[in-house]
Amino acid sequence: ELILAFESSCDETSVAVVENGNKILSNIIATQIKSHQRFGGVVPEVASRHHVEQITLVTDAALKEAGVTYTDLTAVAVTYGPGLVGALLIGVTAAKTIAYAHHLPLIPVNHMAGHIYAARFVKPLTYPLLALAVSGGHTELVYMKAAGEFEIIGDTRDDAAGEAYDKVGRILGIPYPAGKEVDRLAHLGHDTFHFPRAMDKEDNLDFSFSGLKSAVINTVHHADQIGETLSREDLAASFQAAVVDVLVHKTQKALTNYPVKQLIVAGGVAANQGLKEAMNEALAVHFPDVDVIVPPLRLTGDNGAMIGAAAHIELAKRHLASENLNADPGLSFAHA
Ligand code: ATP
Ligand code: MG
Ligand code: FE
Repeated sequence: ELILAFESSCDETSVAVVENGNKILSNIIATQIKSHQRFGGVVPEVASRHHVEQITLVTDAALKEAGVTYTDLTAVAVTYGPGLVGALLIGVTAAKTIAYAHHLPLIPVNHMAGHIYAARFVKPLTYPLLALAVSGGHTELVYMKAAGEFEIIGDTRDDAAGEAYDKVGRILGIPYPAGKEVDRLAHLGHDTFHFPRAMDKEDNLDFSFSGLKSAVINTVHHADQIGETLSREDLAASFQAAVVDVLVHKTQKALTNYPVKQLIVAGGVAANQGLKEAMNEALAVHFPDVDVIVPPLRLTGDNGAMIGAAAHIELAKRHLASENLNADPGLSFAHA
């Protein structure tokens, strides 16, 4: 089974060829980060235009690298939400066109399901499992009773974890997307500020990061006003310690309420070194039977391969789209 998978929900144009949902033959990722950096975030119109320019080139490169042609394919898959509507539409249109022209089934994929199923490239998944999906737009604890069944048991009340990283990065003078650099600085500093751990002690599985973000921003502004210069390393370390504490504690609470053997950490923020270290340490002590799966770097950010992995599950269930498939910017797991 060979699936050609498209991802264009945000600022990466990516096309992959995936065999049997767990083997990557190619995974071409064209990132637009440079074009958005001077605006401090993703500009939807700019994103759409880049996707249009890149999609054919990236598709050709993916087929070439995989050494396959359209006639070798089993199906075409595409992210149809959630994401930026204009960006999603480019991938959806490309996938629909290819599926129609080559008489191939079209598989609609939920972007967040893709982030979670990226773990299938690490090892086979065993259900039930828990996923901590942490990305630019989402922070969710997801319970999966079986493949294709997603129950959101915890969610952010305001900012997503990645969004908080990007906003805090901005006040530290780091260009978008700031997560990786904040992570690096954090390892050079110490948690000297003791920022609030919102909702940490509350008896639910939800998150809140906007208070933490404001605390960092206020601390920096106050220091500026009195002419004091704070250590960027300590600010980053203190912010990261607060984020990681809450993510790890809530995950432990979820594991207590929903016993599973595998925990997947998914999405762009899963690349975070501090999070990986703290999660592995805490679970080794408190949940030694739980296997923590974090996809490798190239698969935690947006990419086509993860969409191919998710599509394999959908194809097995014969969840196919018609040629009328439309982008759904607010798509939730209820329709995954
Ligand atoms: P969504 O998946 O919710 O639709 P998105 O696709 O824009 O949003 P991703 O591409 O999954 O998000 O992740 C990007 C986010 O990951 C950015 O906010 C970025 O700052 C963050 N990120 C990347 N690397 C790291 C890191 N090492 N530490 C923390 N955050 C990181
Ligand atoms: Mg991105
Ligand atoms: Fe994403």
